[in-house]
Amino acid sequence: MNRVFFTLVIFMREPDSKFIKVRCGKCKNEQIVFGKAASVVNCLVCGKPIAQPTGGKIKVDARVLEVLE
Ligand SMILES: [Zn+2]
Repeated sequence: MNRVFFTLVIFMREPDSKFIKVRCGKCKNEQIVFGKAASVVNCLVCGKPIAQPTGGKIKVDARVLEVLE
């Protein structure tokens, strides 16, 4: 692997009920991302885009630590 962090596309049948705990690949900030984000979510610390909505799923561009039910 030549990337510090990885890109993960999460498929969720019920995205309403999901929160994802992620760690920014740039500054290591840990942040909770709503699974049904309607717009791009940026890191609260460094501003790096860490999640973007793609229809019924969310594309996370950060380290996924945990998926919360
Ligand atoms: Zn960051």
